[in-house]
Amino acid sequence: MTQTAAEADIPTAVIATGGTIAMLADPASGVRRPTLSGATLAAAIRGLEVPLAHFQPYAIGSEDATFAHWLQLAREIAAVADAHAGVVVMHGTDTMEEAAYFMAECLPDAPISFCGAMRPPGTLGYDGGRNLLDAITVARSPLAPRLGTVVVMNHEVLPAWDVIKSDSVALSSFSTRHGTRIATVHDRQLRPLSLPLRFNWLGELPAVLPRADAVAYVRLTGSPGPRRFADAIAGAEGVVVEALGAGSVPAAVRAQLLGAAAQVPVVLSGRALSGPLQDEESYPHAWDDLLGGGVILEKRLDGPRARIRLSLCLALGREYRPLEADLI
Ligand code: GLU
Repeated sequence: MTQTAAEADIPTAVIATGGTIAMLADPASGVRRPTLSGATLAAAIRGLEVPLAHFQPYAIGSEDATFAHWLQLAREIAAVADAHAGVVVMHGTDTMEEAAYFMAECLPDAPISFCGAMRPPGTLGYDGGRNLLDAITVARSPLAPRLGTVVVMNHEVLPAWDVIKSDSVALSSFSTRHGTRIATVHDRQLRPLSLPLRFNWLGELPAVLPRADAVAYVRLTGSPGPRRFADAIAGAEGVVVEALGAGSVPAAVRAQLLGAAAQVPVVLSGRALSGPLQDEESYPHAWDDLLGGGVILEKRLDGPRARIRLSLCLALGREYRPLEADLI
């Protein structure tokens, strides 16, 4: 596809949405706002000679992103993907992993490369131009349709299901929970490192907006307050709980969790950074009551991503099934 795209001069779609990558300082106040356009940034990258088509559905700090923004972005990508040689999304880094995951769920066949910057334009070490160049390289690669949605930061290509912002300021902030690195990209070349996986993505754009308040999301701690836990999940249409360790749920809140599971979908994900959920080898039958009570074990996703999947399922009127993979 790269050769075809290059030969035919098909442009890559660059969709700017704001974030540090675009945050210029206001000359009067010094406050940074996402005012740098994708076209201006691309024009400043020396030697970037591929054709680009620019889009800007909104310009925000990604901490203000909502399901409405992500659905708007997904619709824009769906509208442009077929006519372009890959899609690049310039995005704030704070919620990049969630936005990327939302796109992967709704548009699994679209070649989407997210990028951003850990330092703003004009500062020492601004990484926006480099990351944009690398994301364009990935989006135009013949492998892009097999990769689906990826995050391209600091020369690494990381999958939407696993990528995390792991440091608040480091240029090397982006890594993965389970250590899944798909490829590196440097010098306009993609170097694949592992086989892409195929998942049971939802593969559908909801006609109605997922409701931000529909799903209660609770991260468990030691000594959880049973009343606070009950308050947090009361009235929710679905619940995502990040359990401790390999999926431990403290006795203090177990009855409330099972009570909720009798009414609405309850998804248990893990708080640990990696490793399996439900360690039957060490703790046989420890999850019997939860599974018997209908609690769904989400063994692959973290809580924020399980929340997105469950929110999308509710908007689509579909049952939640855990994310599972096959080799391609
Ligand atoms: N909080 C802003 C955002 O996520 C800036 C952080 C960044 O982009 O690196 O858009």
